[in-house]
Amino acid sequence: MPTSKRPLSRRALLHHAPAALTAAQLAAQPAAPVPGTRIPVIIRPASVSLSEQKRLQSIPIPKQSGRGVLLMRDQRLKVINPKGKQVGDLFAFASHSAEEFIAPAFTMTRNRNIYLQVGKGLLSNYGNALLVLEEDTSGRNDLLYPACSGGQKPGLPASIPNCRDNMQAALRAINFPVPNHPEIVHPHNLFQNSPVIDLDGNIEVREPVAKAGDYVILRALENVVVVVTACSSPSVVNAKEPKELLMEVYG
Ligand SMILES: [Zn+2]
Repeated sequence: MPTSKRPLSRRALLHHAPAALTAAQLAAQPAAPVPGTRIPVIIRPASVSLSEQKRLQSIPIPKQSGRGVLLMRDQRLKVINPKGKQVGDLFAFASHSAEEFIAPAFTMTRNRNIYLQVGKGLLSNYGNALLVLEEDTSGRNDLLYPACSGGQKPGLPASIPNCRDNMQAALRAINFPVPNHPEIVHPHNLFQNSPVIDLDGNIEVREPVAKAGDYVILRALENVVVVVTACSSPSVVNAKEPKELLMEVYG
């Protein structure tokens, strides 16, 4: 039985069952968090309104492709659905590290909702709010689905571009590093309509409700690199016809 007051090494922990810990060592363990304790997500108010900002860039996203752009803190991104019924996979990375990115599981659980909420944050895998949704004219943006990929089953045949590859290509095009594990970078799916349809948790994929001209506006809470891919899938998720999207940057 170990008698030292020093923390047990990993090797010692592996070779001594928890029963080997002394009462003193157990008493020295940090207190477990009180269940339900949550660090509040602070959404910093805007220092400048959209009406005071100018459109700095207009970036068309051709169908079945992606585009990336750097947003400085308090700049805004408008993602427009010019023809309607088209999904845009939204990715955003902290500008200082490709390993911190918005993660829908964090957004859903901290906002306690499976859809994006106006006024609420889009949270990273480190729990930081990187963006806030300020406007949303369609009101339906999915957080459950991963990006389409060439290897996903059921997925897209290799002959069709996919959002995971397009996200990486968009990052390379603006000289931002591709994250080490792009397969775990899941999108916030703008305009995707995949409701949970009953209390058993069944999900249905439906055509987007987004009409031509519908849009979302996001404000950068930190400096972030954003990528939007116009989802390539020819399935019902894009009303069976992949189409283009448009990004505008305001600052
Ligand atoms: Zn896709």
